[in-house]
Amino acid sequence: MHNVGGQTSEVSKTSEVYSAREERRGVRILGVWVDDVTYEDMLACLDGFVAAGGAHQVATVNPEFVIAARRDPEFQAILNAADLCLPDGVGLLWAGRILGRPLRQRVTGSDGVWHIAGLAARRGYRLFLLGAAPGVAEEAARRLCDRYPGLVIAGTYAGSPAIEEEDAIVERVRAARTDILLVAYGHPRQEKWLARNLARSGAAVGIGVGGALDFIAGVAVRAPRWMQRLGVEWLYRLWREPWRWRRMLALPQFAGLVLLERLRSGRQTKVGGH
Ligand code: UDP
Repeated sequence: MHNVGGQTSEVSKTSEVYSAREERRGVRILGVWVDDVTYEDMLACLDGFVAAGGAHQVATVNPEFVIAARRDPEFQAILNAADLCLPDGVGLLWAGRILGRPLRQRVTGSDGVWHIAGLAARRGYRLFLLGAAPGVAEEAARRLCDRYPGLVIAGTYAGSPAIEEEDAIVERVRAARTDILLVAYGHPRQEKWLARNLARSGAAVGIGVGGALDFIAGVAVRAPRWMQRLGVEWLYRLWREPWRWRRMLALPQFAGLVLLERLRSGRQTKVGGH
């Protein structure tokens, strides 16, 4: 299911399409840019980023990110400066439809990491897994390697997003000659960490992956597929991790703001039309 091999020509075509910001296809949702990409597009972008060199930040945006960004201008600026903002959250797809610019597909960090590991195995990109509780990145790496023999894990390290640790962590990532760095420190810390450190880490791509390593390592369990398909994965998460309820108030807030935005833009269209 996670094997997306055999799409190389399609992949290189899309990589050109998405290489320049002005050519990006997507939608701005409450001030945060979200790219309209599929898993294949994402892999094409990553290929392009590694080939181009330099440092490219990727974010896995969901409604919680959007609400957090409204209160945190630094976070918002980082998301809007990112080279790729994945639509990781069913709420974003709903918002795209309401705002009249539908997104094609949900692209999650949790599934995305499997796809990325597949790409890395095929291309020989070196993957570094940073963050999560001690031992989790190692277990995630083991499972990824089981699925993709030949995958090169440049390194794993829990560390912490504390500023005092940054220099040492950057040195680890650099010494490991990392191509793609996955950072699991939760938002917005992982995005801020990458904004400060990605360029000096030598990695071509840095992705904030939230709880993805926990899911891959099996320390957290994702909702059954049927719930994901129905768009109620958040409900399952609330049941498994009830302490998230306060954070999840962001969801109704997000929905209300999107509807307001829709009303406003509808009114503007009418006024403009007369
Ligand atoms: N985490 C960490 N160090 C920290 C804070 C968080 O390693 O100081 C990890 C945590 O173990 C988990 C991930 O970051 O693996 C956060 O997952 P979550 O699903 O909460 O991500 P979010 O939804 O906040 O992006």
